[in-house]
Amino acid sequence: MELFRLTAHELAELLRRREVSSYEITRAVLTRIAEIEPKVQAYISVTGDEALQMAKEADELLAKGEAPSQLTGIPVAIKDNMCTRGTLTTCASKILGNFVPPYDATTVARLREKKAVFVGKTNMDEFAMGSSTENSGIKPTLNPWDLSRIPGGSSGGSAAAIAADMAIVATGSDTGGSIRQPAAFCGVVGLKPTYGLVSRYGLVAFASSLDQIGPITKDVTDAALLLNELAGHDPMDSTSADVECPDYTKFLGRDLRGVRVGLPKEFFGEGLDPEVEGSVRAAIGELEKLGAEITEVSLPHSPYAVATYYLCATAEASSNLARYDGVKYGLRVDADNIIDMFSRTRSAGFGTEVKRRIMLGTYALSAGYYDAYYLKALKVRTLIKRDFDQAFEKCDVIAGPTTPTPAFRLGEKTANPLEMYLSDIFTISVNLAGICGISVPCGVSQSKLPIGLQLIAPAFEEGRLFRVAYAYEQATEWHRQRAQYVTL
Ligand code: GLN
Repeated sequence: MELFRLTAHELAELLRRREVSSYEITRAVLTRIAEIEPKVQAYISVTGDEALQMAKEADELLAKGEAPSQLTGIPVAIKDNMCTRGTLTTCASKILGNFVPPYDATTVARLREKKAVFVGKTNMDEFAMGSSTENSGIKPTLNPWDLSRIPGGSSGGSAAAIAADMAIVATGSDTGGSIRQPAAFCGVVGLKPTYGLVSRYGLVAFASSLDQIGPITKDVTDAALLLNELAGHDPMDSTSADVECPDYTKFLGRDLRGVRVGLPKEFFGEGLDPEVEGSVRAAIGELEKLGAEITEVSLPHSPYAVATYYLCATAEASSNLARYDGVKYGLRVDADNIIDMFSRTRSAGFGTEVKRRIMLGTYALSAGYYDAYYLKALKVRTLIKRDFDQAFEKCDVIAGPTTPTPAFRLGEKTANPLEMYLSDIFTISVNLAGICGISVPCGVSQSKLPIGLQLIAPAFEEGRLFRVAYAYEQATEWHRQRAQYVTL
């Protein structure tokens, strides 16, 4: 049996029955990484020795029947913008190229406490700014389905690692689509939780009013298992919501009777690839067969979402990234005086896209332009949120495509940032509204590239996403296609 191919819930069962050990699973995953990583480049650091040590500790608890979680002993990959005590955390930026955090992000601490096994830190677009992982300051990650294509971004390393069985579950972060879009491009499951559900403490900030950490997994059950560990109030994050978190696996059921699914007409217009549209419409037909009622809804301000996002996100980024000044941590390029030191450090440390965003954001916040750009964007953001409130009066979940096309080729959009920005057109408004969304595999294109179905629910209604996504997954075979097509 190829242990690395299994899901967390399958492995948890084998561990519980003592048929395998965490040490064996971890060794299998590390061997898989050694074989596949040179082709896919999903990781910035692989922490093999630490992983085997963690696996031994997990096995001791498992032997005593004292596993604290279903993820005890399960190999996890962590996106490299989450602080890991004692392990390099670069954010794929040269400016943090030598940064070893003295503390764990809350999400990391929770997984550590549950004795999950950390196999490594995954590649990403620098500071999570991008949609293809080509903005990584270290190296690009390739899509395991087709090595001439990008895996999506910014959590491209995590999605590629899961698609290529180089980890069992992974964490990602999503500011405008960075979990859902790479999940769709790599044929795996990715969930962006409601803003505030998962602690951002120790997540390197990009746009603080939009960032959220969430699971990237091989199937919906694993996403529920991982969210069970990640979600919950954290006093260390002032935006963390103090809400009761249910056991998300309770929502996994097989029928959808009485569930109202809304199709936003704006998500099925111009620019949507016909193969993506075909797969998504077939998926909606499947939801109907399972008992869901399909209705049309409207999100009239969607055409403004990309512009609104790129004002809010860059404004916040320009302020958040002011801390990389060569003084406190990270890269320093020395000079005769402090101003030149700041400027040389930042010139050498940040990549082109990060610099572009710092400049855009600084411009949008500057005196005289603040009202015209940033303030206006905040107002449109409220209108976008209101569109969802109104749509959810008519439906329980919204369904549509995750991305307008399947994965594009390396280099295809790097010359034109606007084209790159448009690949998040269906995911961005979910972050602006602070609600939750999931991408599940719903098809494979003729050129053998995966296609994702996006489901969206109101704030703190992740349970609805799990219910619909799981029923759909169990009724179809798409989540199994990964293993069939990914031949590396
Ligand atoms: N692709 C979007 C951007 O470049 C979203 C990134 C993200 O969600 N972190 O900002």
